Amino acid sequence: MKKRYAMTVDTVRCVGCNACVISCKTENDLPNGGFRDWIVQEVHGTFPDLSMQIRSERCNHCSAPSCVAACPTGASHVNEGGVVAVSRNKCTGCKACIAACPYGARYVHPAGFVDKCTFCLHRVQRGKLPACVETCPTRSLTFGDLSDPLSPVAQLVARRRFTVLQPEQGTVPNVFFLA
Ligand code: SF4
Ligand code: SF4
Ligand code: SF4
Repeated sequence: MKKRYAMTVDTVRCVGCNACVISCKTENDLPNGGFRDWIVQEVHGTFPDLSMQIRSERCNHCSAPSCVAACPTGASHVNEGGVVAVSRNKCTGCKACIAACPYGARYVHPAGFVDKCTFCLHRVQRGKLPACVETCPTRSLTFGDLSDPLSPVAQLVARRRFTVLQPEQGTVPNVFFLA
C-alpha cells in the first residue's frame, strides 16, 4: 500500500512549552519571523465550566491540498508519502498558495520563495523522526505511516477521539488532534 505520512497531536499531553517550535527553527534553519509550526491556545466552554486546549499546529499535509491546486508554476506539489512540498527553484513568491491555504501554514522566506512544514522529509528518509516529534518532552506528537495499520499513528487514530482543523474546507487534513 502507498505510504501516507500523518501526525497526531495529543492535546491532553501538550503543555505549550514551544520546544517543537524551537527545534523546527533550528533543524530547518528558519529565518527571523519564519515559523513552520506554532502553538494555539483555545478556551472552550462557558464560565465556570471552562477548559483550555493547547495544541501544536503545522501544515496538515492535506490529501486534497488547495495550495497545490492554486499554485500556477507547479512549485507546490505532493511528494513522497503525501507530503506537500515547495520546489524553491520553481516558486516565484506570488503567494497564491498562501491565499489558498485555510490554515495559515505558509510564509514567504526573505529569499523570495514560500516555505512551510515538510514533515521533515529529509530526516524521515534517513529513518529519523521529524525534529518536533523527536523533541517534544511530553510525547504529544506522533508521526508515521497512516496506511500501515500497525503504525503508532494509525493505532492512535483508530483508538482515540480526534478532530481535524476546518474539515468543512474539504482539504482532508492528515494532522489529527487527539482529545
Ligand atoms: Fe506541546 Fe510537545 Fe510542542 Fe511542547 S514540544 S508545545 S508539549 S507539542
Ligand atoms: Fe496546503 Fe495548507 Fe493543507 Fe498544508 S495545510 S497542505 S499548506 S492547504
Ligand atoms: Fe518543523 Fe519538521 Fe515538525 Fe514540520 S515536521 S513542524 S518541518 S520540525
